[in-house]
Amino acid sequence: MPNMLRSWLRSAAGCWGSVSWIFVNLTIPVQERLVAYKQQLAKVPKGSTPDFVFQRGTPYAKAVCFSCGATLQELQHGRCWRCSLAWRLAVGGSIPAERAAVYDGARVVA
Ligand SMILES: [Zn+2]
Repeated sequence: MPNMLRSWLRSAAGCWGSVSWIFVNLTIPVQERLVAYKQQLAKVPKGSTPDFVFQRGTPYAKAVCFSCGATLQELQHGRCWRCSLAWRLAVGGSIPAERAAVYDGARVVA
């Protein structure tokens, strides 16, 4: 076995713990939101969409995800990437990026 391949396999095996940690910690939170958003979508009349809020009662404040309450990296109103990805997956299909950005930036208050 060439040394280069042996070295790569050794480093890949050493990274597996980190890779599985990243996979679990990045995908499970999205999966939880996706399940919740699909349930919300199933309850609204056909042709309309719910507000896709993961935790009801979260404040609509700068630097706070209005859907789940997570801290945002930017000092603006909006959703975190997990909530944004999950609602897009729940809706399915193709969503123009400009339209999705509007939905992520503003919470509709009826
Ligand atoms: Zn969020």
